[in-house]
Amino acid sequence: MLGKQAWKLQANPGNLITRLFKAKYFSRSDFLSSSIGHNPSYVWRSIWSAKFIVRGGYKWSIGTGYDIPVWDNRWVSDGSVFTRPLQLDPMLSYLNVSDLLMANAKKWNMPLICSIFDNSSATKISQTPLLESVVEDKLIWRLEKNGHYSVKSAYRYCINEAIDTTGLQIPGQWNKIWRAEVPPKIKNFIWRLCRNCIPTRARLIQKGVNCPDICALCENEQENNLHIFLLCNNAKEIWKSVGWWNTLQTHLQHNNIADIIFSVLQVFNSDQVSLFMVLLWSIWQQRNDKVWRDKVEPFQHVRARAINLLTDWKGAQNHKNLHSQQRQHNTAICWSKPPTGRYKCNIDASFSKQQNKVGIGMCIRDDQGRFVLAKTEWLSPITDVDIGEALGLLSALNWVHDLQLENVDFELDSRNVVTSFHIVFWK
Ligand SMILES: [Zn+2]
Repeated sequence: MLGKQAWKLQANPGNLITRLFKAKYFSRSDFLSSSIGHNPSYVWRSIWSAKFIVRGGYKWSIGTGYDIPVWDNRWVSDGSVFTRPLQLDPMLSYLNVSDLLMANAKKWNMPLICSIFDNSSATKISQTPLLESVVEDKLIWRLEKNGHYSVKSAYRYCINEAIDTTGLQIPGQWNKIWRAEVPPKIKNFIWRLCRNCIPTRARLIQKGVNCPDICALCENEQENNLHIFLLCNNAKEIWKSVGWWNTLQTHLQHNNIADIIFSVLQVFNSDQVSLFMVLLWSIWQQRNDKVWRDKVEPFQHVRARAINLLTDWKGAQNHKNLHSQQRQHNTAICWSKPPTGRYKCNIDASFSKQQNKVGIGMCIRDDQGRFVLAKTEWLSPITDVDIGEALGLLSALNWVHDLQLENVDFELDSRNVVTSFHIVFWK
């Protein structure tokens, strides 16, 4: 949530709150280049500490390019940053992205770019789309397809990228985790736990977050992985209640949670593995309920939540297996006619890495399924699948508009594009 406030300060300069903070704390720069200053208020210090999230998650959407410095900014499509070289010709120190465009067209000036950047950087630039429809330089949130900040993606970023997990390439039988018969979210949780990515208080403090370090459940010892999931009296009670405490104790000679989990998985059968994994997850839910909602749960609830999740999921799996043949039949892909009096325009994009191009095919048929018109188009540079499909839809909309055809349905196979389209237009 702090990340969201920080994001607003950077991305919405016109916002009243941003203007207030700017006047007080960063009147001569933007939020990203701001310093914490003397005597910062609690609110400002907290928002400022979330700056690393904004720095990692933003990207420029290129309009004119006048407002986008070339160095140390994210503006190429893969989100990478070109750091200003140490020995740089002073003439090139203050380049803006607009300087890299042709004088008379919104296109990359490749000869110039190749003279400044190495090959791989020049390729990255050439693969960054320049869209006529984008007129203003604007900051977007690169971790969501729609460019809008979300707490979920910011959290994912903190866990996966911002928090350094190099050196945590833990050897172990990961397959035991991936093959376990538990819902995917549980596998993901155990994987994060083994990679030391669960934000326990000890982990948060290591990462510079200012928070208490005492276990939220027993309030006796430091809250780290080993404690919260195994050594805490609360955890012991749960393990005892399923009759595993004695077994688990024999694995405690390892001093980190990943080694303990792997060695337990070695000796457990597949049902025990499933239950062990969901119980660990349920303990973390219990801890979060205490921290975020001040809710105290007895161990019976923690155990019941784990068992119920597993039973429900297994029930659903069996049901799915029973009906899978039927389902396959039902979802066989076939073209269907539009309703009477309407047309249907099908759009598909293809991608050629070699030619750095996206091919767009569009085909219109009538309500009898008869071919009406078709068109192909090439766009350069190549984009990712959803962007390609979205550009295809945009071309098709323009084409149909030019043709003055009415009553047209559009069909394409990117669910993301279809969903985003509905969100944008019908909200
Ligand atoms: Zn504890």
